[in-house]
Amino acid sequence: MEDGRIHRADHVVLAAGAWSHRLAATLGERLPLETERGYNTTLPADAFDVRLQLVFVDHGFVVTPLSTGLRIGGAVELGGVDRPPNYARSKAMLEKTRRFLPGLKAAGGVEWMGYRPSLPDSLPVIGRAKASPRVLYAFGHGHLGLTQAAATGRLIRDLVSGEAAAIDPAPYRPDRF
Ligand SMILES: Cc1cc2nc3c(=O)[nH]c(=O)nc-3n(C[C@H](O)[C@H](O)[C@H](O)COP(=O)(O)OP(=O)(O)OC[C@H]3O[C@@H](n4cnc5c(N)ncnc54)[C@H](O)[C@@H]3O)c2cc1C
Repeated sequence: MEDGRIHRADHVVLAAGAWSHRLAATLGERLPLETERGYNTTLPADAFDVRLQLVFVDHGFVVTPLSTGLRIGGAVELGGVDRPPNYARSKAMLEKTRRFLPGLKAAGGVEWMGYRPSLPDSLPVIGRAKASPRVLYAFGHGHLGLTQAAATGRLIRDLVSGEAAAIDPAPYRPDRF
C-alpha cells in the first residue's frame, strides 16, 4: 500500500477500471484497454419539468431526471486517463438541450467527466492473469459497468472458489487478444 503496509491474500482481484491495464502491465501483461470518456452536467432539479428520460439518439446525449437534479449526459472521447477533462463537450450538450427544451434554466450546473474502461471487442476482461492463477482480472465493462458489476462479481466468486460458473467465462478470457 502507499503507506507501506503489506496485505497478504490467497487471491487478488484487479478491478481498477480505466487504470487496470497499467497494473496488469506490472505483471508483464499487455491488454488493449482504452477509456471512452463521457461527460455530463447536472442542473438543479427545477431546471425543467422532465418526468421521463429523454434520449436524443441522433445527437448522442440523454436528459435524465434524478433525485439530485436534471442530468444531461453522453459523449464518447478516446482521451486516456492522464489528459484533463474537456468540458466543452458538456457545454455543447447543454446548449443542444436548451434548443430542444426552450425555457430550460441552464444555470447552476455541475460538470463531470468519467471513464468507461473499454476493450476493442466491447467485452470485459474476466479471468486469471498469465503471471499467476491467484490474480484475477475483472475490468473493461465499458458503457455497462454498473449494469454488469453483480454478474462479474459472481463469476469472480465462482472462479476463486472453483464452483461451476453460472455462465461460460470463455468469451471474457484475458488471453483472447
Ligand atoms: C458518462 C458515463 C455514463 C455511464 N452510464 C452507465 C450506465 O448507464 N450504465 C452502466 O451500466 N454503466 C454506465 N457507465 C459505465 C460505468 O460507469 C463503468 O463501466 C464502471 O464505472 C466501471 O466500473 P469499475 O469498477 O470497473 O471502474 P471504476 O468505477 O472506474 O472504479 C475503479 C476504481 O479503481 C480505483 N483505482 C485505480 N487504480 C488504483 C490503484 N492503483 N490502487 C487502488 N485503487 C485504484 C479508482 O480510483 C476507482 O475508484 C457510464 C460511464 C460514464 C463515464
